[in-house]
Amino acid sequence: MSALRFSSRFNPMLSNIILVQTKSLLFSFSSFSSSVRKPWLEDELVGYIFGKKKATEVAHLVWRHVLHKGDIVIDATCGNGYDTVAMLKMVADESGHGHVYGMDIQTEALENTSSLLDETVTQKEKELVKLFPICHSRMDEVLPENTAVRLVAFNLGYLPGGDKGIITTSKTTLLALEASKKMLILGGLISLVVYVGHPGGREELETVEAFASGLCVDGWICCKFQMLNRPLAPVLVFIFKR
Ligand code: SAM
Repeated sequence: MSALRFSSRFNPMLSNIILVQTKSLLFSFSSFSSSVRKPWLEDELVGYIFGKKKATEVAHLVWRHVLHKGDIVIDATCGNGYDTVAMLKMVADESGHGHVYGMDIQTEALENTSSLLDETVTQKEKELVKLFPICHSRMDEVLPENTAVRLVAFNLGYLPGGDKGIITTSKTTLLALEASKKMLILGGLISLVVYVGHPGGREELETVEAFASGLCVDGWICCKFQMLNRPLAPVLVFIFKR
């Protein structure tokens, strides 16, 4: 795999653990979601390892590897809408299939998301997005029964540019993870970007890790990307349903 060859040439010690997880992630997703080789995914992961790509960019690339046009996805933390737009572009198709169910507890966040959609997608694409001012622990209340969800994405923490006191919490994040687990189809993904630099962030990461660690190996592949020498860097967690 070129990612491994590339990194062994530069050989930064901190990459070793990430590389092992990266290798297993690529093999796992490749074998379950698509037989088409996507070299850009490897390039972006290597970019992350060498500090040139953000955690959210890696998350988007992993989504692209899992998602198909026409899929139904959930943005569990809309915030300023960047993730909503990214996933909409991946699932919206010409015939009006593909839906994003977005939620946030702050109206300000949903307004920002709506404005970003106005600026970046067509009206027809925007109609495929449904925004709800609710806690993500209640996601099952707003989706039609038995909806087949391919991706539930969490970008945890506070609204950038907003009130830093309004943050995701371990308790509701765990409830939302339990709800996501039930809604996800085989080959689906729960994706999390977890921020540990604010009060409660470290505890929330521990909650996410405990949830993922407890899932059975036969049914789930769970992995984590973490910068070892940047303790406050966001942590990526991917929970893939085989
Ligand atoms: N995905 C966003 C983007 O692309 O701009 C960034 C999300 S931001 C880091 C986290 C968001 O989670 C904030 O807007 C916050 O209001 C929201 N949030 C906090 N607790 C929540 C909850 N229980 N349910 C849903 N959203 C929540």
